[in-house]
Amino acid sequence: MAKKTSKINIVRLGNFISFSSLKEIGNKILESFSGMIDEFRLSHHEAPAIDRIDAYLLTMILNEEYGGHTLGITAADLKTDDEDEFYNSIFGGKNPRNDTAVVSIKKLSPESIDSEIDYNVLIARTLKVSLHEVGHNFGLTDHASYKVASDGALCPMSKGEINKFGYRGYVRAIIDGRGQTFCEECTNFLSKAHGYKRQLMSLVKDGLESTPNPLKPLRQVPV
Ligand SMILES: [Zn+2]
Ligand SMILES: [Zn+2]
Repeated sequence: MAKKTSKINIVRLGNFISFSSLKEIGNKILESFSGMIDEFRLSHHEAPAIDRIDAYLLTMILNEEYGGHTLGITAADLKTDDEDEFYNSIFGGKNPRNDTAVVSIKKLSPESIDSEIDYNVLIARTLKVSLHEVGHNFGLTDHASYKVASDGALCPMSKGEINKFGYRGYVRAIIDGRGQTFCEECTNFLSKAHGYKRQLMSLVKDGLESTPNPLKPLRQVPV
């Protein structure tokens, strides 16, 4: 069985995040999507220094330029057409018509970046929102409830309610609470839909096939 893995383009817009931090984010994405994404490519996209950009438009631009699985990380605010002020500026989004997701670091930043610790907080949050959006790229949906993964942290697809916390509270309660491991439900979905950890699955299957019950005729099981 051929192993189908994807590559992901990680595109930086604005130069607030260093390339070595992007690399760190890329490596963590490979870990969390092990068996699904096997390579990342880093690029810098020259963009006008604007404060806000339309999220949908940005996904269209990046998809046209890079194609395939693409994650754009921008320093600008991502806006949407939503009437509701809580949702007309978003942390991240994914275009349902292609495999391009975008993340904004604007609202993820601590109130000021005065130390390496503050900067690392920003990178950790950027990674968590990135895992969530790339999860959408692979067909995962939001958890309205708080799903805990095997590492004890919230599944990256946990969403919760922004309205309930306000932005800063939401970042601390939900985004900081997420880990890098997907919950069982998400892992099952990924393994069915995309052959996530397929190696492990085929090992189990080989084991079953090699020890058939001799009294029963071996039945073909559709895969
Ligand atoms: Zn989501
Ligand atoms: Zn999950």
